[in-house]
Amino acid sequence: MTKIRPLESRPFRFKNATKKFHCPLCASERYLTSSHRMSAKHFLQIAVLTGVTTFALFDFMQWRALSLFFVFWAGYEVVRRLVYRSGIECPYCGFDASWYKRDVKVARRLVDEFWQKKNAESQKSVPPQNAP
Ligand SMILES: [Zn+2]
Repeated sequence: MTKIRPLESRPFRFKNATKKFHCPLCASERYLTSSHRMSAKHFLQIAVLTGVTTFALFDFMQWRALSLFFVFWAGYEVVRRLVYRSGIECPYCGFDASWYKRDVKVARRLVDEFWQKKNAESQKSVPPQNAP
């Protein structure tokens, strides 16, 4: 049985959340809005991009410009992976689950750096006492 849930239980910001979990370090609610997989929508975007580029560069490259499809594809893969990786890091405590899996020491260092950066930023926001 599918039942429509009340709107209140679906926060607007996370409408497209593909994964919901709790941060293992600080227990904040976390959401992942993107998956690292390419969807049909992305291939459509790449196809349109290739079409436009082929049109724009036709004088120089003719139909060889169509091979740019693979260049754009590779670019999309890289960007999507970066976006996915940055989404994994907890915005509250800096815990990175993907690094934790690979190397606990690196994950620990990243959390340390996150807090050092956060502390430095909060110190910077204090107005200078003796401004020239
Ligand atoms: Zn956290």
